[in-house]
Amino acid sequence: MTGRSIDGKAIAAGVRAGVAAAVKALPGQPALAVVLVGDDPASQVYVASKGKATIEAGMRSVEIKLPADTTEAELIARVTALSADPEIDGILVQLPLPKHISEPNVLAALDPLKDVDGLTERSAGKLVLGKPGLRPCTPVGCVILAKTERPDLTGANVVVIGRSILVGKPAALLFLEQNASVTIAHSKTRDLKMVCRGADILVAAVGRPEMVRGDWIRPGAIVIDVGTNRVPAPEKGEGKTKLVGDVAFAEAIQVAAAVSPSPGGVGPMTIACLLRNTVLAACARRGWAVPEQLDQG
Ligand code: NAP
Repeated sequence: MTGRSIDGKAIAAGVRAGVAAAVKALPGQPALAVVLVGDDPASQVYVASKGKATIEAGMRSVEIKLPADTTEAELIARVTALSADPEIDGILVQLPLPKHISEPNVLAALDPLKDVDGLTERSAGKLVLGKPGLRPCTPVGCVILAKTERPDLTGANVVVIGRSILVGKPAALLFLEQNASVTIAHSKTRDLKMVCRGADILVAAVGRPEMVRGDWIRPGAIVIDVGTNRVPAPEKGEGKTKLVGDVAFAEAIQVAAAVSPSPGGVGPMTIACLLRNTVLAACARRGWAVPEQLDQG
C-alpha cells in the first residue's frame, strides 16, 4: 500500500484564500508587525515570506529589522511601543533571538491581544484552560492537516514526539481539545518506537533528520512531520544542503494512510495560520465581527 502525501501547500493556499476574503469583508485593514533581530539567513527568509504573504492577503505588513547587537532593553522598548500602537493588530518576534536576549522577557512585553504567535504566558494559559484565545500557528497547522484526513478526531490515539513550548506541548493540547487521546513523547520516553506504533496520528516535532522510520508507524496511520532539518546533500554538488523532516518520508508513505512531507507540509500552514490569527486579533481588539469567510478556507 502507498499512502497519500498531504499537500500542505494546497491546504495552506485554501486557508490563505479564506483570510484574503475575510480581510475584504472587514471595515478596516489589519496590520501585522514582524520584528527580526540579527542577520540569521533562515530567519530573514521566514520574515520576508511572512511579509509577502501578509500583503497578498490584503493586510498591512510592517517589518522591523534590528541589528544583532540590539540590547534586550532596546528590543523590549520596540515591542512595548508596538503593543501600544493602535494601528498594529498583530506582533510577531522572530525566534530564535540572539543569545544575549531573554525570549521570555521580550514576550512579557507583548500585548497578549496582539500575540499572533500564541507564545505569551497569557495565550498559553488560555490554551491550557480551554478559553478562547490566539493559538500557536504551527500546532494549529498540524491539527488542520490531520483533520483534512480525519475530520473527526474524537477518540483518536495521537502521539506527539516533542514537548517544546513552541510546538509539542501546544500541539498536544490542541489535539486534546479535539477529543483525541494524547501521548506526549520526548527524549526520556522509553521504547519510543512502540509508543509511536500505537498512534492513529503521529506528530513528529523533534528536530532530528528522518528519525521516525517506516516500522515506527502503525499501518494506516496519519503522520504529520513538523521537523525542518538542513542536512548535507552531496548528490546536489559539493557543499550543497537540503531540508528534510523528522520522518523518513519514503518509508513512511509505504505504511501510513497519509504523510505530510517536509518541506511542503506544516511549514506553509504555519504562515497561513499566522495570517488567520492576525485577522482574529484585529477583530477581537477592534470589536469587529469575525467574517464568516475566515473559516471557509
Ligand atoms: P525543540 O525545542 O528542540 O524540541 C525538540 C523536542 O524533541 C524536545 O521536547 C526533545 O525532548 C524531543 N527530542 C529530542 N530528541 C529526541 C529523541 N531522540 N527522542 C525523542 N524525543 C526527542 O524543537 P522545536 O522548536 O519543538 O522544533 C522541532 C522541529 O520542528 C525542528 O526541526 C524545527 O525546525 C521544526 N519546526 C518547524 C516549524 C514549521 O513551521 N514547519 C515551526 C517550528 C519548528 P526533551 O524535551 O526531552 O529534550
